[in-house]
Amino acid sequence: MKIGIPSETEPGEPRVGATPDTVRKLIGLGATVRVASGAGLASGFTDEDYAQAGATVAGSNQEALDGAAVVLKVRRPRADELGAYRSGALVLGIMDPHGQHEALAALAQAGVSAFAMELMPRITRAQVMDVLSSQANLAGYRAVIDASAEFGRAFPMMMTAAGTVPAAKVFVMGAGVAGLQAIATARRLGAVVTATDVRPAAKEQVASLGAKFVAVEDEEFREAETSAGYAKPMSAEYQAKQAALVAEHIKKQDIVITTALIPGRPAPRLVSAAMVDSLKPGSVLVDLAVERGGNVEGARPGEVVVTPGGVKIIGHLNVPGRLAASASSLYARNLLAFVETLVDKKEKVLAPNWEDELVKATLLTKDGAVVHPAFQPQPA
Ligand code: NAD
Repeated sequence: MKIGIPSETEPGEPRVGATPDTVRKLIGLGATVRVASGAGLASGFTDEDYAQAGATVAGSNQEALDGAAVVLKVRRPRADELGAYRSGALVLGIMDPHGQHEALAALAQAGVSAFAMELMPRITRAQVMDVLSSQANLAGYRAVIDASAEFGRAFPMMMTAAGTVPAAKVFVMGAGVAGLQAIATARRLGAVVTATDVRPAAKEQVASLGAKFVAVEDEEFREAETSAGYAKPMSAEYQAKQAALVAEHIKKQDIVITTALIPGRPAPRLVSAAMVDSLKPGSVLVDLAVERGGNVEGARPGEVVVTPGGVKIIGHLNVPGRLAASASSLYARNLLAFVETLVDKKEKVLAPNWEDELVKATLLTKDGAVVHPAFQPQPA
């Protein structure tokens, strides 16, 4: 069982699919592991670290992928890279499959079995493989750190001989995994924190972290969670009521962190340009949904925008990648846990169970075809 770890080729992607720690465990499963030279460097792992863990360091991605039955990736391989992949290889990564029919067709054509880790069901058994949670948790933390670095004031209340500095007011919109970590981090820094979400279950979680919940709690709100625990798209009427409440609340805030997502859809627009303008100069917004269309009007992917009113809108890309060492460590463990389910541990051979619900939920392509029911090619 050969496992290949190539370097990521996407610009701005410092993460890596395996760490020296997970390499050791993969070898324990009976694998031989080849890591492309430099693949872990941006996450703080050297070639020597991987070699000491028992991996072979390959001179190039081509060499790392040569004959690999399993490839551990962060991002979906580009079509022009797929020539280096062995037909039939299991390729694990964050595949970003929504609306990517051409890219999925290329994966199918290469004959690889591509697994989209972000489609892992959020069931107890698969918690350890949940890349959305491991990465969103870090993004939520980093959003607060980034906001505090751009904010020209302190977060905690400080009573000094020279006078009192008031505590910063932080408003977190979307209290899922990222939002809850943002709340916890802002609280640790001493901010006064409020938060909103459309899922009623979030109310208690927000309160348990010592933040105040702000939302229109009508009939629609009470039913706004899908059986999978995700947010439903809300009606135009609800969104208008929520926007009015938020408009009143937001103008008193110093920091606004938005994390709202709906799986497979563009991010909901939560903060209008008028709301941004209502903030005091020096206030900071962080839009963690910027890569999915953005929650904040005026947010620009990869930029820190300063409005004429002196408000900063942070739109960093790949926020988990801004904590590359932590993000890679957790991500690599997510992948390792999934690989463990694909291996016959007694015989020490690869033996995927194609009927396993985790495989069925994540498998995009196999044997030359796109097999996932949610991503079937559209008839022309
Ligand atoms: P997500 O990244 O899809 O969305 C982030 C948050 O935005 C969610 O809380 C969502 O409700 C919220 N949101 C969407 N539209 C909104 C709007 N218009 N206004 C305000 N907020 C809005 O969500 P996530 O962080 O991946 O978590 C989704 C759910 O899955 C949560 O219930 C979470 O607790 C649950 N979860 C379960 C497990 C598990 O059991 N293994 C693991 C992780 C998360």
